[in-house]
Amino acid sequence: MSNWDSIVLLTVNLSNGVVNKTTLTDKSFLKKYLGGRGVATHYFLSKVDPFVDPYSPDNPIIFAPGTLTGTFVPCSGRTSIMFKSPATNRFFKTNVGGAFGAQLKFAGYDILIVEGKAEEPVYIYIENERVEIRSAKHLWGKDMRETNQIVREENDDDELQLACIGPAGENKVIYASVHASIYNAAGRGGGGAVMGDKNLKAIAVKGTKSIGVSRPKEFAATVKRLREKMEEASGVQPLSDYGTSVGVESTNSIGAFPVKNFQQSTIYNVHLLTGQYLVESGLLKRKVSCYSCPVACHRFVTVDDGKYRGTYCGGPEYETLSALGGGCLSTDINAVIKANELCNILGLDVISTGNCIQWLLECKQRGVMTDADADGLDLSWGNMDTVIELTRKIAHREGVGDLLAKGLKVAAEEVGQDSYKWAIQARGLEQSRVETRSAFAYALAFAVSSRGPDHLNTECLAEFGGAPEAIQLIERITGSKEYAYPYTTDKRAEIVRWHEDIYAAGDSMGICAFPTTAQHWVDEFDMADLYSSFSGIDVTAEEIMMSGRRVITLERVFSGILGYTRADDVLPYRMMYEKQLDAMHDNAINSPEVLDIMKDQYFKLHGWDLEAGLPTKEVLEELELDEFESKATFL
Ligand code: SF4
Repeated sequence: MSNWDSIVLLTVNLSNGVVNKTTLTDKSFLKKYLGGRGVATHYFLSKVDPFVDPYSPDNPIIFAPGTLTGTFVPCSGRTSIMFKSPATNRFFKTNVGGAFGAQLKFAGYDILIVEGKAEEPVYIYIENERVEIRSAKHLWGKDMRETNQIVREENDDDELQLACIGPAGENKVIYASVHASIYNAAGRGGGGAVMGDKNLKAIAVKGTKSIGVSRPKEFAATVKRLREKMEEASGVQPLSDYGTSVGVESTNSIGAFPVKNFQQSTIYNVHLLTGQYLVESGLLKRKVSCYSCPVACHRFVTVDDGKYRGTYCGGPEYETLSALGGGCLSTDINAVIKANELCNILGLDVISTGNCIQWLLECKQRGVMTDADADGLDLSWGNMDTVIELTRKIAHREGVGDLLAKGLKVAAEEVGQDSYKWAIQARGLEQSRVETRSAFAYALAFAVSSRGPDHLNTECLAEFGGAPEAIQLIERITGSKEYAYPYTTDKRAEIVRWHEDIYAAGDSMGICAFPTTAQHWVDEFDMADLYSSFSGIDVTAEEIMMSGRRVITLERVFSGILGYTRADDVLPYRMMYEKQLDAMHDNAINSPEVLDIMKDQYFKLHGWDLEAGLPTKEVLEELELDEFESKATFL
């Protein structure tokens, strides 16, 4: 097996059909950015005009598996997808599992950059050196399952891995998702709409090359040690047994499960929305994993009887059970699975879909809209027939679905009155199903994240201190176990920055966020050992974290160039101005004052300008990002 020695970028231009291959071999550059998300973020900021229209041919969409994706490192099969978001109008990174990234690596490519715009629907076919742009006219209008089946059949190849969009992406629903291996969604930010705008239905890839490792014995020993750590970590088995919905019941019991569009924090019969119930009821048919993951936290479920008999899909994940279940005031698990199936095959982000539907239901509750405004649908809380029909309508932009397809920011502007107060979005992104009024590190993380109010740049689960490993981590980050307490502003900045750094570095290496930020059996020291032995480039744990910080800083530079500042680091109105009901603590609000305390701490910790909340010249130099000083017009 040969040494690993470079990163290969494949560029496909859909406007002129030109295909290019570039090889990066500069070791000091690779050490600075590690690979995947790091290298792609550097590329984006270097090459793309920040003011580009998200629907311009000049807005590329980049697929970046991590450096370790395709190896046998546990939980290393993740791929970052980057573009300027039509939802937030900022640079956006989303992430997906499955086996697409591994196949791209086996084909010999570390990063795929798709530029331009095709005149008619196309898909990209990649098989090692063979890279073709093919007609997808026969695929346009097809759902995820049909697209995967047709492309595999016409190529007579069941092993092809697809990243593709459904009708929602074709119709440029602003939160349309990109799916890998059918049921793995890169849900957030509207990557599916960017692909749809490019007339890019799918990317089909298969490779037969091997991946070189520079120090195989050392690498194998590190992987062995990590597997032992994984077996000892307290959270791994429950995640494997019950999936991401393992924690629904405990979240509900501490008054932190968003219900009825964040108007309540608990729901009766919550057990029906849990991973445990999926097992007990026989709905769960099998566990599913991303490439090279022994944890297998994903689910595959079928509904075998009743009204929704014949429904089958991946999930439902924690976010789905809240967004399409509890959030709509329902515990009808079969109906949630039906709505989830529609999101899966039509290509919709479940969080944004759920938040938009809940907003519409609350519009009726508050007398701002009527059933007649929603094509005659009964907008009563808990009516799952309506939830399912709205999901379908959003994907096809039918009737009221067209309003919701624009996202909550625009929908609330169009409907007017006070409807912005219950639009659970900020900066164009619908908030993840985290009750930030009872989780202050999450509140800070959501406020400052380049993505918007969302957990997938910064999963701060450790602040709850729900496991011995979480408490140890908080002690390591803050100096005391007492900060494993989510109802305080103290030390949240330290907790958020650590999580941002490791999350970004993990994305660059392809490592899933569960081992780093939820189960805590991979830390920056392990990542340094993995990267050094794999690449032959020695890095320290500190350099791993610095690499992550470079990415976070570059994302902030991109936002700063666009004119966004500290004043834009906000949360949805409800989080900031309405106290959470039935909370377990007295301070259950993310008021501007509370956020300001934490933002001050966070910007100081970063060394950023306190007033603007933006990186300074000194910070860019310290992080060896001098090359971006001339672009950073706010300096
Ligand atoms: S833990 Fe779950 S999300 Fe992470 S790599 Fe494994 S299967 Fe994928």
